[in-house]
Amino acid sequence: MNLQQNERRNFLKTAGAATGGILLGVPAIKSIAVATPTSTPPQIETPFHGAVLNHRHGKKVAGGMLVRVVGQADAGEKVTVNGLLARRKGRAFEADVVLRKKETPIVAVAGNASEQAKKHEIRVIWDRYSRPRYRFSIDDNSFFLRDIARKKPKSLFDCFYLKILQDLNKSFGAKFTLNIYYTTGDGFSLPDFPDRYKGQWRDNSDWLTLAFHARADKPDRPYQDAPPEKLIADLDQVSEQILRFAGEETLSMPTVIHWAMTRPSAWRPLYERGVRVLSGYFRPHGNSYDINYRMDNDRSAYLWKHDALMDFDSGIVFSRVDIICNATPVDKIVPTLEPLTNDPNTAEIMDIFTHEQYFWPFYQNYLPDHARRLDTAIRYVTEQGYEPIFFHEGFLGGKEPV
Ligand SMILES: [Zn+2]
Repeated sequence: MNLQQNERRNFLKTAGAATGGILLGVPAIKSIAVATPTSTPPQIETPFHGAVLNHRHGKKVAGGMLVRVVGQADAGEKVTVNGLLARRKGRAFEADVVLRKKETPIVAVAGNASEQAKKHEIRVIWDRYSRPRYRFSIDDNSFFLRDIARKKPKSLFDCFYLKILQDLNKSFGAKFTLNIYYTTGDGFSLPDFPDRYKGQWRDNSDWLTLAFHARADKPDRPYQDAPPEKLIADLDQVSEQILRFAGEETLSMPTVIHWAMTRPSAWRPLYERGVRVLSGYFRPHGNSYDINYRMDNDRSAYLWKHDALMDFDSGIVFSRVDIICNATPVDKIVPTLEPLTNDPNTAEIMDIFTHEQYFWPFYQNYLPDHARRLDTAIRYVTEQGYEPIFFHEGFLGGKEPV
């Protein structure tokens, strides 16, 4: 269907109504005023284009998962969804579709046999092996690296910060990805970090990994409007250093870029570097959304209330951060997480998050109870049956669907 065809059909409908008016002996102009409403293409409303669907979104059937497709189309028109006749009520239509593989197109076609078909096509992802899981990502890391490089302790875990994380791993099996800067901006940069701990990094890489986050803490939003080449060059520089001092087992591709703001044109180059998931807040801000990799409003609005969304153009799945520990007091942690575990659209994947600087007493916004906040969040999701995963492994940390 193109615009010309649409206009032609509307013209014919209008002309028909006008002719009818003349036959009935009323002024033609009045008939045109009550002409048939403009014919519109069908619109699939649920699922959303790019939706990541799991067992909470449908019914298990032989060889697949049955999901309900709901939308709007001109009243009275026949609508088919993936070839099956949809049920109609007024402008609404609904039909059931069985997902059988990782990616499924859903096509709604409206129109009578005499008309050129009008259609709306979306695609969805079926996370068929999905299990409740959580990931823990810590942003803005650099102080602990500077501390270890200066003090040269015997063990990495002589650093109190890494010791806190190690204790959480021992207690709950928690896994952490630390997103790091190239430089603290006050004389310490990654090339100053010794490679003497390489064996220890490797030994702990099943639960502790390092990833690029930004070149430095300042300026804020460094990649919001940077050319993708600048972001990729900074990523490569940090990855090279992680490889040097911590080995390939410890290197992971980033899942959070500083401030979660990039040009959308950077998404594909990031995918080509191995990035598969990008986390952000996707939070409303005025008439728009923020901390969302500059994603469009419709998809940001969806992510604000859902775990994840696939961007088919880049291949990247976007994940919404569920809790920011440094911004959530201990007594608010469970009340923040608990409602998310009850909503099928947010219950499956807990994207847990905080920032390194709040651990350090010299930091102006130091939080003496920061470690307790992490313990409270991890304890709660563990008790609810969530498994620790890394987002950079498999599909959102789960088994890759096929
Ligand atoms: Zn950051």
